[in-house]
Amino acid sequence: MALTEFALIERYFSHCGAVRGDVALGVGDDGALLRSPSGEDLVAAIDTLVAGVHFPPQAEPASIGHRALAVNLSDLAAMGARPAWALVALTLPESDARWLEEFARGFGALALMHNVALVGGDTTRGPLCVTVQLLGHVPPGHALRRGGGAAGDTLFLSGTAGDAAAGLLLEQGGLALADLGAAQELRARFAFPTPRVALGEVLRGHASACIDVSDGLLGDAAKLAAASGCGVEIALEELPLSHALVRAVGVERARHLALTGGDDYELCFSVPAAHVAELSRALPQERWNYRCIGTLRKGAGAVVTRAGTVMQFSHSGFEHFAS
Ligand code: ADP
Ligand code: MG
Repeated sequence: MALTEFALIERYFSHCGAVRGDVALGVGDDGALLRSPSGEDLVAAIDTLVAGVHFPPQAEPASIGHRALAVNLSDLAAMGARPAWALVALTLPESDARWLEEFARGFGALALMHNVALVGGDTTRGPLCVTVQLLGHVPPGHALRRGGGAAGDTLFLSGTAGDAAAGLLLEQGGLALADLGAAQELRARFAFPTPRVALGEVLRGHASACIDVSDGLLGDAAKLAAASGCGVEIALEELPLSHALVRAVGVERARHLALTGGDDYELCFSVPAAHVAELSRALPQERWNYRCIGTLRKGAGAVVTRAGTVMQFSHSGFEHFAS
């Protein structure tokens, strides 16, 4: 069933996500009117997902809606910000009611969970593409950044790494798995990632630097290090791996995926060594689910160590530099 542009906006997007008192005017006029809490810094992020590039063209629409918001929530989490308002620019090949309903359901459920109101957007016809802009707040001067780390800081990672990459491989037929439970868990990690918004907020005042892992841990940790004017060392044995991932591909390939695979949307953050004990007290690891994976160090670039020795890293695996 096809809907007119006006009807589909009204039906699926005029009451999507949270209802917030700071939205003076939402969907329906030429612009949204938003009331920023006085004194707070406004944090803005925007991300585009293109069919065939950022998700398989046949991906379930609920997953596309979820991920389009999740990637932005993850950016705000990495800033230590509290999300508030979203705008969606949607380009669709056709106005398919079932597709739109599922998309809005995926987007809306995650928006509700994080108290995000959908306050506007744009709808056009063309090849499938979704852009979400997300706005949020942070106490002035307290946003987390990539550039606040220093050599000697301890590096942490939330959750587990590599699952989403394995999930995408499963989706694309690049990996087969007899263990259906593990397969389902890994696919869900790609299709419905969990942005670490609450962790980002409580890391304010603890983390010296923070980045969300979207393009692969090794590369993203290197970006944090570069912005902080130092290098980074990651201990291969310390990488947090899910049971599902190890069951699926074995520990060696799991570590490789954990370092290079994208779409995890975990937080990678540094804490000055002198403040690590305080971090563990304030944010117990069992509750907040993060672990130490390495350190920032003098110099530049990212290296991976195994049993304290720097590893050569290639697409086929790891080798000692020495051997
Ligand atoms: P205009 O031509 O004035 O930009 P539009 O017809 O594009 O108006 O949009 C009408 C209203 O619907 C605006 O408030 C806009 O923000 C909102 N809107 C359009 N598309 C979407 C969407 N996909 N999600 C949420 N709001 C949307
Ligand atoms: Mg418009």
